[in-house]
Parts: sequence; structure tokens; C-alpha cells
Amino acid sequence: MSPPETKISPLTASASSLWGVGAERAVQLARLDIHNVEDLLLHRPRRYEDRRHFRKISELTKDKPATVRGTIVALGLKRFRGGSKSVFEIILDDGTARLHCRWWNLPFMEKYFARGDEAFVFGKLSETKPCVMTHPETEVIEGGEEGFIHINRIAPVYPLTEGLPQRWLRGLIWRTLEKFERQIAGPWPKLPLKNLPTRANAVRMTHFPEELTDVEIARQRLALDEFIELQRQIQSRRDNFEARTKGLPCGGDNRLMKPFLTRLGFKLTDAQARVLREIRADMGGAHPMRRLLQGDVGSGKTAVAACAALMALESGFNVALMAPTEILAEQHFRNFQKWFELLGVKVELQTGSRKIIQNPKSKVQSAPGGQPSTLFIGTHALLTAGFDLPKLGLVIIDEQHKFGVAQREQLVRKGNYPHLLVMTATPIPRTLGLTLYGDLDISMIDELPGGRGQIKTFVRPTDKLPKVWEFIREKLAAGRQIYVVYPRVEDSGAKELKAVTMEFENLQKLLAPFRVGLLHGRLKSAERENVMSEFRANKIHALLSTSLIEVGVDVPNATVMLVENAEQFGLAQLHQLRGRIGRGAHESFCILISDAKNEEAQSRLKILKETTDGFQIAEADLKLRGPGELLGQEQSGAMRLRFGDLAEDSNLIRQARALVGKAAGIFVA
Ligand code: ADP
Ligand code: MG
Repeated sequence: MSPPETKISPLTASASSLWGVGAERAVQLARLDIHNVEDLLLHRPRRYEDRRHFRKISELTKDKPATVRGTIVALGLKRFRGGSKSVFEIILDDGTARLHCRWWNLPFMEKYFARGDEAFVFGKLSETKPCVMTHPETEVIEGGEEGFIHINRIAPVYPLTEGLPQRWLRGLIWRTLEKFERQIAGPWPKLPLKNLPTRANAVRMTHFPEELTDVEIARQRLALDEFIELQRQIQSRRDNFEARTKGLPCGGDNRLMKPFLTRLGFKLTDAQARVLREIRADMGGAHPMRRLLQGDVGSGKTAVAACAALMALESGFNVALMAPTEILAEQHFRNFQKWFELLGVKVELQTGSRKIIQNPKSKVQSAPGGQPSTLFIGTHALLTAGFDLPKLGLVIIDEQHKFGVAQREQLVRKGNYPHLLVMTATPIPRTLGLTLYGDLDISMIDELPGGRGQIKTFVRPTDKLPKVWEFIREKLAAGRQIYVVYPRVEDSGAKELKAVTMEFENLQKLLAPFRVGLLHGRLKSAERENVMSEFRANKIHALLSTSLIEVGVDVPNATVMLVENAEQFGLAQLHQLRGRIGRGAHESFCILISDAKNEEAQSRLKILKETTDGFQIAEADLKLRGPGELLGQEQSGAMRLRFGDLAEDSNLIRQARALVGKAAGIFVA
């Protein structure tokens, strides 16, 4: 693809070079992030007003905002409380009725209006008898040469800043467009953008559409330009990386993998096997692997990680596995030790509260070079200075969403560009993933191992708790185990939040003679590990916890997940919590307790009731919260989108990817 225009575009001229923009206006524009002509032309209207047709004042309602046009027949400012408070009012008449417009404590409004002025007023009624609008948007109609910009058309209404008049900005944009329209070039002249207006047309349609339907057409064109640019950036980062780096030979020779898979006790699912082939191709390839492994909770990512680790170990390299919490690092340590000990591989644990623990019994595996190969497991403590990972061939990051990009990069830089496998159970909606992790290849485990029991999900109000406890006692009596999750560690002051430390005693009484364990982040790691191992051994039957157990914990005999104050948790978090159950053959139950009345919380809980599919949940989450939170730190690296919407524009994103891929011959759509 040809690079964007390299000669300096006239659109980079500073805003203050425009006629009518003095020092004061330039400062105001800068507050809106408008620094040059291009910024100004891409300043997106907040809404549009169809000034060809007006609502009659007599037809205004309380629920729908509308624009009316009338003449100011009276106005006045009233001060009270010794002049410290005021209300300014104008009365507008359009021949059908009168409308009172009021502004509280904005006495300077007075100077913008005069009796006899014609004005537009936009808003909805706050009272109907008489008709009153409080703090509506207004614009006085002035005749003169510029009148045609503002009236008898669909007029753009822009985001403003203090002191900047709507009318002035609209005039400036009109004149700037007249002057520069012919110089707005499409950034990708060689790309076939079918069925879309030219960029110049799209800019005009954004500001001065002929019909309201033009606005969305124009937005799509401008959004597509943004997504193409985003894809281009992602791709050039990737190209750069590959030009700079060489992959370490970590394809392995199966001598550890074979016995591992034989003893594993289950057969890999087709999805696991497919992903492993992708990983093997990467690790034996010319460039360091950069791969994101997505798989819903319980899909068996750990076994895949183990196989990837063995490939590197077989090849004589060390491997680092990083988990977001100590509990999880410890769980991995135990699993991997059990699996790898028999293979003669050294497994070491390094967390914040535990220095490296070597397995004293392990017979050290000698790599071809004579050096023993080791799997290091830890939390981000693996990152701490001074802890050097020699001969690092592969870095595995579990539950990626807990790490920022910066941390990820930091760890990878420890070695000589080791291979990187990032695993996440928070499914990222596909198009978002393509954009966010565009510099990673994506593998998907889209199949759960067979032989799993169903999970049923219920949402119940607090007053149903006695019945719930009865149900739970039945399950305990049948030999199952349960989780009880509260949102906080200690009473945070908010009364309605039950605190785990206080509830612990209650729960012990309630569930006696079954044993209850308590788990939260403020426990010492030895205590925590003790509780976990007793729970794993079924000596503790009910585990009371904060959301600490959200990620990764794997106890197949636990079949009930009770979450109190469920509305306090995000969708993805609840999905993770629910992922702790349904791991064995028994039927499982997720019970979400909530008295929340607000709509957002209700719809979140409803989604969980309706599906257990992590991808559907992620899509819904994205719609509910917007991409900001999902992106989190990831977003900070990305460019600013004025017209594109990562949550809504999956078609455009796909189109951009296809266009860029064709042009570069790398991405295949
Ligand atoms: P996650 O993808 O959430 O990390 P885990 O790796 O913890 O999932 O796996 C969940 C459970 O499924 C574990 O108990 C694991 O031993 C088991 N498991 C993994 N793969 C398979 C398989 N192919 N067949 C049967 N059980 C499996
Ligand atoms: Mg896991």
C-alpha cells in the first residue's frame, strides 16, 4: 500500500492562521483539541437541528426535546437572596403559544437577548402550564450575509467550550470548508472504497448534510479511514518487530510431550490439538511467537500451556509462566510439579511472599547443551529486578486481562525475544481483539472438554436466602462443595455490603457440621495456601471468599457458586466466578443474590442467566459498558477515534482489515 501523502498537507495549517481566529479564539479552540484546519474540519457535531421544519410551541411535550422558532416578546432578570441568586427569563411567541425559557444564576445571559429578536430554542418542557423550559439551548437568528448558514437547513450543533458561541463556530467551519474542501484528499487513493462518498464529501455531509440520513453515511466513510489507519499502524509495528527479531528454535522433539500426554489422564480436545499445532509452527518458525490464546473458562488452557512449555524445554530452553495472583501461581506450581516431576523437569516457584522453591526431589533434566531446563512459575514478582531468567525460550502469561501491556513487555524484554503465549479467559469480542491485539496472532479454544455437568444460573433477592441455604445444605450432604463470594474483605463502611470477615462466623453456624474456610487477599500466603489445600482435599466443604478466586481456581467437586451483592460485580467477573463450577461431572448451580433495582444491573444479571457462552457475554458487556473498560490500559496505545466506534463498527473494522491486508499481502481476511 502506498504511504499516505508525504508532502505537507494544507490541512495542517494552524487554526490561528484562519481568518477571524485571534489569540483568544485560538485558545478556546485548543480547549476543544482543535489545533489545525484538519482538527476543525473533523470537529464532530454533537447533534443536528432541522431548521426547515419546526415544532409548534403548543405541541411541545415533557419527554421529547424539540426545536421551536419564535419572537422574544418579553424578557427580564430577577435577583433574590440579596442579589446572590438570580433567574433570567425570556418569553418566546410563535403564534401558537408562549414559551418561558429560564436560566438560574446565569445573569449574564441577559446581554445576549433583546425584545423583538427571533430565536431558536431547543429543549424539552419542564412545566406545561405555562410552557417552561429550563436552561434550553438557544440561538438568536441574525439576518445578514451569513444567515443562510444557520437557518433553513439542517444545522450542526457542536460541542463548545466556555465563551465560544455556536453561531461563530458554525460560521468558521462553513468558511473553512469552502476554502479547503478541494484539498481534503482520501488518505488511501488506491484502495477501492465501494459505495462510500469521497472523504471531502463525507466531511461536508458531516457538517452540512442535505438530509439527516447523510450523517451516518459520512460517519461510516470517516470511521473507515480511521480503522484503516489503525490497521496500518498495527501492521507496521508487526512488520518492524519481525524485521528486528529472530525466533529461538523451540519446536521440540516430542520426547517429553509423548510421555506427558500418555499420563495426562484425558485426551486433548480437537480444539486443544489444533491450537497446539499453531503454537508448534510458531515456536519452530523464523520469528518469535506472539500469540494470544483465548478459551472460555474451563476450556483447558493449562494443558495447552504445559505442552507449549514442554516444546521449549525439550529444545533446551527455560520457560517462565506468570499468573495474576499467588493462589493461581501456587495452583499452577502444584499441577506442573505433579506433571513435570515424572519427566525430570525442574519446576520453581517465585511469588511475592515466597522465594524460589525448588523441588528437592526432582531429577534435573539435562538439555542437549548440558544445562538443566527449568520452568519458573510466579506472579508478576517474576518481573522484579535482580531475578534473571537465563536462556528464556518461552514466556507464558496466564489470564492476560490482569496484566497491562507495559508489564507484558517488561517481562518479555528479560530474554532475547523469547516466544510469548498470552492466555485469557475473558473473551474479547472478535473485532475488538483484532484491533487491540492486532500485533498478536489469535488462537481460539472454542470447545469445552466433554463429560461436564450443566450449570444452572439463578438470580434471587436476599429474602430468598433461607431457601438457598437449605438447598446448599442438601448439596453439602450429598458430598459436594460450595463457594460463597462477597464483594469486600472487611466492612468498607457501606452497610449493605456484607463483609467476609464478619460473615464467616455466621456461616460456620449456619452450615455446621460442615466446615467453612475463609479466603481473602489480606491473609498471609501460607494461611491462604492452607485453606486452599484443605478445600482441594475436601476437608473444607464451603469456601467463603472475596473475588480472589475469580480466576483459574480448579476444584471439580465444587458445584455451587453463591454470589452475594452480585450487582457489585462486572459481567466478565461474574462469568469468571461461575467458571469455578461445572468442572466435574455433577450438575452445578450458580446463585446470584441481588436486590438491585436499577436497569443496568438487572440486565447484566439477566444475561448471565440466559447464556454461559463467554463470547456472547463479552459482546453484551461491550454493549453495556462501551469499550473503554474492556480496553483498559490496552487502549492507551491506540489512536484516538473521532468517528469510529470499536463496539459498534465490527463491519467497518473487518472491511479495513481486508483492505489493508490485500494491499500489503499479509493479512488475509
Ligand atoms: P482454563 O482454560 O479455565 O484454564 P483449565 O486448564 O483449568 O481451564 O482446565 C479445566 C479442567 O479441565 C481441569 O480440571 C483440566 O484438567 C480439565 N481438562 C483440560 N483439558 C481436558 C480434556 N481435553 N479433557 C478432559 N478434561 C480436561
Ligand atoms: Mg486457567
